[in-house]
Amino acid sequence: MSETNTIQITEQDLSQTKHAPIPAAMHSTTNTNSAAASKPSTSNGVARAEVRMGRADNESGIIWVTSIFMVIFHVGAIAALFFFSWWNLLFAFVLYVLAINCGIGMGYHRLLVHRGYTVPKWIEYFLSVCGTLSLEGGPIAWVATHRVHHQHSDKGGDPHTPQEGTWWAHMGWIVTGQALNAQTSALAHYAPDLAKDRFHVWLSKYHWVPLTALAVAILAIGTLVGGVKVAVGLMLWGIFLRVTLGLHATWLVNSATHIHGTRRFETRDESRNSWWVALVTGGEGWHNNHHAYPVSARHGLAWYEFDPNYYGIWILQKLGLAKQVKVAKFTSRDPDETGQRGTHMTTL
Ligand SMILES: [Zn+2]
Ligand SMILES: [Zn+2]
Repeated sequence: MSETNTIQITEQDLSQTKHAPIPAAMHSTTNTNSAAASKPSTSNGVARAEVRMGRADNESGIIWVTSIFMVIFHVGAIAALFFFSWWNLLFAFVLYVLAINCGIGMGYHRLLVHRGYTVPKWIEYFLSVCGTLSLEGGPIAWVATHRVHHQHSDKGGDPHTPQEGTWWAHMGWIVTGQALNAQTSALAHYAPDLAKDRFHVWLSKYHWVPLTALAVAILAIGTLVGGVKVAVGLMLWGIFLRVTLGLHATWLVNSATHIHGTRRFETRDESRNSWWVALVTGGEGWHNNHHAYPVSARHGLAWYEFDPNYYGIWILQKLGLAKQVKVAKFTSRDPDETGQRGTHMTTL
């Protein structure tokens, strides 16, 4: 299957970026808008872009480049276990927080995909660079893929729904699916806001550069300070094991939280709230809350729903750096103290 076949859009579509469908992911709730957004709409008689990333449209043979990297990282992760030290563990933990919490959770997901809050450009760029350290690709591909997920959640065209197999939803869509090979120009339909930003376009093209530079710096500084064995230990923990665990944590949001857990809201998908996925992703596991209120920068709505990615956004807000923080307010009392009934969106 050629790359162009994976994205079913026309040349005319590519010239109509300004008409690109803004997916339900950027609306205030999925409940009322997702049905309309999931229908291919027309403009001047031309079908608008509809990126179909489901298994039926995208499964192919093994994607060798991706698969070889996955094998290398998993082997490196196992090798790391033979180089355990508390310093290596701490180093991996700090990089995990930077890549998965700051980069993916606060950055790619809650800021870039859903625009749940605003920050100065330099913070947006910093969080995006952190996101690339997760080896989950550049911001445009990640954002577009996730907006397609919200548009077609658990229906045909969803990039990674467990309705098409648990293994497919977790890792299969990465190693045997063509979705990530889509051209940036095609994906840009789903991320027109990022496609016009030169930094995001550059970072999307060279998303592997920050992680590679970090690895080289770890090897160089580690060797200088502690010798080759110290450098290799830091490298295995800080890059290979940390990246591998971060990938699986993120993939669990696609697989596990569309299968296991509780449903607080009757969304039109199979999303669930899972405390253990929330634990390893910094709050992304409160996925049923998220599908019900995708724009909310806060995913853990009850006090006991641990959501460190939101606490990071809250700190940025207290520092005066994050503004227009949109949060879903969960009311166990009905109406609440302000007279509002039911769960509702508010802007802090
Ligand atoms: Zn989902
Ligand atoms: Zn989302």
